[in-house]
Amino acid sequence: MDMKRIRRLSHTSPDPLKGELDGEELPFSHHGKKNGSQISIPVFVLLICVVGVTLFVVTSGVHRSESIVTIAGAGGGGGGEAKRVSLSRFRNSPTNKDRTLGGLLATSGFDDQSCLSRYRTAFYRKNIPHKPSRYLIQKLRAHESLQKRCGPGTNSYRKAVEQLRSGQRSNFDQDCNYLVWISYSGLGNRILTVASAFLYSLLTNRVLLIDRGKDMNDLFCEPFPETSWLLPLDFPLTNTFANFSITSPESYGNMIMNKAGVHKDNFIYLHLDHGYNDNDKLFFCEEDQKTIQNARWLMLRSDIYFVPSLFLNSLFKDELNQLFPEKDTVFHHLGRYLFHPTNAVWGLITRYYDSYLAKTDEIVGIQVRVFEIDPGPFRHVLDQIISCTQNEGLLPQTVVQDEIGPPAFNAKSKAVLFTSLNMGYYEHIRSMYWESPTSTGEIVSVYQPSYEGYQQSERNKHNRKAWAEMYLLSLTDKLVTSGWSTFGYVAQGLGGLKPWIMFRPENRTVPNPPCRRDMSMEPCFHSPPFYDCKKKQGIDTGKLVPHVKHCDDITWGIKLVDENI
Ligand code: GDP
Repeated sequence: MDMKRIRRLSHTSPDPLKGELDGEELPFSHHGKKNGSQISIPVFVLLICVVGVTLFVVTSGVHRSESIVTIAGAGGGGGGEAKRVSLSRFRNSPTNKDRTLGGLLATSGFDDQSCLSRYRTAFYRKNIPHKPSRYLIQKLRAHESLQKRCGPGTNSYRKAVEQLRSGQRSNFDQDCNYLVWISYSGLGNRILTVASAFLYSLLTNRVLLIDRGKDMNDLFCEPFPETSWLLPLDFPLTNTFANFSITSPESYGNMIMNKAGVHKDNFIYLHLDHGYNDNDKLFFCEEDQKTIQNARWLMLRSDIYFVPSLFLNSLFKDELNQLFPEKDTVFHHLGRYLFHPTNAVWGLITRYYDSYLAKTDEIVGIQVRVFEIDPGPFRHVLDQIISCTQNEGLLPQTVVQDEIGPPAFNAKSKAVLFTSLNMGYYEHIRSMYWESPTSTGEIVSVYQPSYEGYQQSERNKHNRKAWAEMYLLSLTDKLVTSGWSTFGYVAQGLGGLKPWIMFRPENRTVPNPPCRRDMSMEPCFHSPPFYDCKKKQGIDTGKLVPHVKHCDDITWGIKLVDENI
């Protein structure tokens, strides 16, 4: 049974996904009971039958891991031999704890039907060993209260906006301070910067508000219960967002340069774009943080995953250690907490997964991102993909063989999920496994959901596909990504996957080695500061603590790693 069918049934039956384990009630759709009404015996019997049949249909669909289907076998007796295939990839009745991702997600305050992905992702994801800390869970619940108390529609928000508009001190809630995230750049970059902004707002008790840009509300559900994270459309500074740049007098870097003081009534613009200057980078210093915290409103424009540098700030490090005892799980937890595909995107994800990936033994994801001006495809990129996947034992080699073997009923099946703007790599690999058998006898099928040709970040439909593909990659068992790409970082982080990272080719030649297993699933911070705030001199920030190291794909970048590696 597919998810659409479950949805249809849920209009007339108890929600099939609702569970009572762990003593928690989930906020899946509630169906009205007729309080105190008398039910006649025939109606009662009819009801029992309807509920019984519905439950049977529903459970046989939801518990897909137990279900067996019959398919017609190829070859053999011509009439098609029957084969029973277990749809083993679906998780068997996840507990409430699984559905809330180990307590990450709030259990109430959401309308389940308006965001199906929120509690259904557990059916598609393997049980991932990384659990959120109790402290992180507590902090998230407290932050949700803050968002609700100070967010759009509240008196506190209205007063804070009035004060921003007039520049005059007003009688506002001292606890309500705001961080506004400004939307720009590719989708992968946007996701990473929202996660960075959210962590910063957790650390500094600020309400996070999201400029919806062209399509943020079309792609993502609301993450906080009973409030909205979307910046209201009448926010007074919205029309100036596009003008914020490295030269803006309101940027922190320029305020420092011009020795302008920070007042609570003013806002500060944080310019954390990859091309930022040394003054802007002072954002990462302790003394500057104290100054910045004086402003009620912060406007952030960023395209970088700046989380690793927050771990180097002594104001935040103890809190961060408590929040994330496993240092390499920051984006993994925050990403799965924040980013729930809207129903339109969830449809793209589940239809694709159910059609092409659900029945296979193993899924290998290959994300191909080529940073060339010409569209390609390029021979050296194809060679890199083949040598990486075959050298690392991710995909089998092909052999020359004239004889056709017996029907491969018990052969292991592998699905390869390609994502790329170009279809050339997928087409070649698919033909390769069609034209020749594999050395291991494994059956390899190759898929690619879209080939959009070029980046079209302003088009909603294009971004929906991009988001669906990042998410599909995160559902794979083994993942190969292209170095430098935030698209791949999002997939690996959400999936809790340490990818094999393909190094960026130079001079159109295959790098040696073509790829390597990454040391952590965390994204790389591409343009970190190299500055010792206390000594006021340059320093290599990738060598200060064991859990912040230089990235494999960008040698000057830094990333969080597990201290024990
Ligand atoms: P990055 O440039 O690789 O760091 O990733 P971004 O996501 O920030 O920007 C690249 C953009 O190009 C994506 O957001 C998509 O709009 C598009 N794009 C790149 N690769 C793919 C792909 O494999 N599939 C789809 N659908 N879009 C892609």
